[in-house]
Amino acid sequence: MKLSLARSTPFRALLLAGTLSCLACNRDSSSAAATPQTPPAATTPQDTSLPTLTLPPDSGPAPSFDSNRAMQYVKDIVKFGPRPLNSPAHKKVEDYIDSRLKGDNVEDDNFIADTPAGKFPVHNIVARFPGTKDGVIIVASHYDTNYPLRNTAYVGANDGASSSGLLLEMANQLRGKPRDGYSVWLVWDDAEEAMLPDGSGGLPMEMPFDKDSLYGITHLADNWQADGTLKKVKAFLLADMIGDADLDIDRDLNSTPWVESVVYEAATRLGDQSHFFGRLNQVGDDHIPFMKRGVACADLIDFTYGYNNVFWHTPQDTIDKLSPNSLEIVGKVMLETIRILDKTEPLPPK
Ligand SMILES: [Zn+2]
Repeated sequence: MKLSLARSTPFRALLLAGTLSCLACNRDSSSAAATPQTPPAATTPQDTSLPTLTLPPDSGPAPSFDSNRAMQYVKDIVKFGPRPLNSPAHKKVEDYIDSRLKGDNVEDDNFIADTPAGKFPVHNIVARFPGTKDGVIIVASHYDTNYPLRNTAYVGANDGASSSGLLLEMANQLRGKPRDGYSVWLVWDDAEEAMLPDGSGGLPMEMPFDKDSLYGITHLADNWQADGTLKKVKAFLLADMIGDADLDIDRDLNSTPWVESVVYEAATRLGDQSHFFGRLNQVGDDHIPFMKRGVACADLIDFTYGYNNVFWHTPQDTIDKLSPNSLEIVGKVMLETIRILDKTEPLPPK
């Protein structure tokens, strides 16, 4: 499977089985998936192995992470209801996230996005936890829900709420402790989701996801490129759809292999590697604007949410599908990844 072929599809992502045969993960393709497919013409299989790095030895206790508190954040966000752009619940979630970060160094990045569905206010939230080393590690999650599903019961418990609750608990773990490492910036970005139907959620596709999405994070990437901040960013870690009780984080071929090697090492040190990278995928997500600007990235996403991803972008994306244990696994692996990055000298080139 050529990457370019996968990129040309209208879907947000393609799953690539370990044999590099192609399975469309989009719900609308279920009938096509049942039809035998002609294998693609001869292609050069891509080398998908992760690089072996020389990393500092495992030291210190495992990071702490309060999974029940993280889960409560997720429940609180979901309780506000659907949170598409410009909705009352969206504003309540903005205020909720800000309220959990009182006393932290927080920047609210507000702007108006010009989208195919009109102009909409967008609100990114950045919390900065300073370190002693020169450089920044960004951890991001979007918190909005899909706009075309705004008139349904879709609350995005996994898609947006799980990772946003995870970051709030990461803030608790970072707060008030001197960081002997890089500064960590937690980013709750807005308007990740498409504004017109993108073929997900049972709606027809009016606009491909990559032409109508990632508004908030692109704004931050543009700003930080313009003011030189981007040069200081050592790694960009993204969490998306990480609350599924049946946790299987994809190995994303759109991410930076050496960062994924560090993530896998962190998972292995914590004994959680069986939840990581058993499946190859290629994901269009909030890391793409940073990848395009030369930042090393890893997207941690479990894009098989129910068999054949059936719960994705549907009203069935509800809290009962999630597990605090999954939040804890991903939260600890993120924190351990940061610890390894802090101690690795030098980091591989971007
Ligand atoms: Zn989504």
